[in-house]
Amino acid sequence: MADYDLVVRGGTVVTAVDTVRADIGIRNGRIAAVGESLSGADTLDAGGLLVMPGGVDTHCHIEQLQEGGGADEETWETGSRACLAGGTTTVIAFSAQFKGRGILEPLAEYRRRAARAMVDYSFHQIITDASDEVIWTQIPAVVESGVRSLKVFLTYDALHLDDRGYLRVLAAARRTGALVTVHCENYEAINWRTEALITAGRTAPMYHAWSRPSMIEREATHRAIALAEMVDQPIQVFHVSCSEVAAEIAAAKHRGLKVWGETCPQYFVLTAADMDRPGFEGAKFMCSPAPRTQQDHDALWQDVQRGTLDIVSSDHSGWSYEGPKGKRVNGIDAPFRDIPNGVPGLTARLPILFSEGVGKGHIDLNRFVAITATNPAKLFGLYPRKGSIAPGFDADLVLWDPRKQVTLTNAVMQHILDYTPYEGRPVTGWPVATLRRGAVVMRDGTTRAEPCSGQFLARAPYDLIRPRGVLPDGFDASAFA
Ligand SMILES: [Zn+2]
Repeated sequence: MADYDLVVRGGTVVTAVDTVRADIGIRNGRIAAVGESLSGADTLDAGGLLVMPGGVDTHCHIEQLQEGGGADEETWETGSRACLAGGTTTVIAFSAQFKGRGILEPLAEYRRRAARAMVDYSFHQIITDASDEVIWTQIPAVVESGVRSLKVFLTYDALHLDDRGYLRVLAAARRTGALVTVHCENYEAINWRTEALITAGRTAPMYHAWSRPSMIEREATHRAIALAEMVDQPIQVFHVSCSEVAAEIAAAKHRGLKVWGETCPQYFVLTAADMDRPGFEGAKFMCSPAPRTQQDHDALWQDVQRGTLDIVSSDHSGWSYEGPKGKRVNGIDAPFRDIPNGVPGLTARLPILFSEGVGKGHIDLNRFVAITATNPAKLFGLYPRKGSIAPGFDADLVLWDPRKQVTLTNAVMQHILDYTPYEGRPVTGWPVATLRRGAVVMRDGTTRAEPCSGQFLARAPYDLIRPRGVLPDGFDASAFA
């Protein structure tokens, strides 16, 4: 009898620390051995390929519910296919709260919808209304069910919490053992500037960037960190767009705070100038925070390489361009503030980071694995099940051809949407096979998984996000308010 169900043979195995030639022995969907000359009932030849942990994308909007009913156009089935095509095997999506309503019923609906997934998954619980019932009763129940991260928006009319609401969520997270993730932009400043731009007749997509310059992201990041420090609650800052903002995170880390930073592929390749393309085309590049400048790209890579930024996620948006809920929902003359935000990127995440980051010498292979799989798995409590290659981990692997050249097009993305902001962009390095818990679920772009084969990942308490126990005056206000 063979020692293993499957052996991935002869590849170069890359983790966040090591790069070694080795075979991987898989038994019952998990990695059982990393060694030499392993033999299995089945063999997958990885000669000439890199073998890396399947991508862990901890910021994706998939089938997110809309206030008026219905959901994102991207479904769990199509979103999963896009993930597998791009080498990603685990995602964390969102369960949203609508103001004035609770979070338990929506989460049950998200769980029901996500049962169709072909990737393994969890959720961040968005809190938009920090009522007593939500803070004291519902958040503890949600966290206890394994959804161990909360998300707060400091901007957007329908979503934003004021500082007091944010403090209450920080306190609730501290009491229940959850991580808080934050969208950092200054709500009042954006609204004030947006009104001025629209009054001045500056309504085209490019003015989206003008409405939210970098200092309003920097200010909100500084404030989010200071308030988290006061509560002694760890946070992760989402989608840092430029080095000026990353500097706030570097300063927090330097002071010993548990503050982590995420950025996204779009901030390495898109610029504000993309939103100035003719006609309404610029809307395809609109996301928040806004893409910055070419010079910002290099500086942001340095923040990734030196460890200021820990994670690179897609922030995949589930809206199309031309579809009924898409960018053109309010017409092609709609002022920028009425155009849905966000860009899709489930499939493009790993190829862009590999091609731009590893290919152009900004980061090495190990850092690539760290920011796309190991760090997100660790920070969000999926470790040591997801995010690395060692005995005991789920056999989630991507077999990667580092030399394969591909031109990114919408067809290549395999999502349900009708555009990609990366149309026509050449990349070098491409996933040729994806394994999820030991099964080959993508081969040469073809998905082999069945709907409902993904698993919900309930996240248990873990040490990394434990508060430091350092409180101003030693007084723990979170126990009372
Ligand atoms: Zn997002």
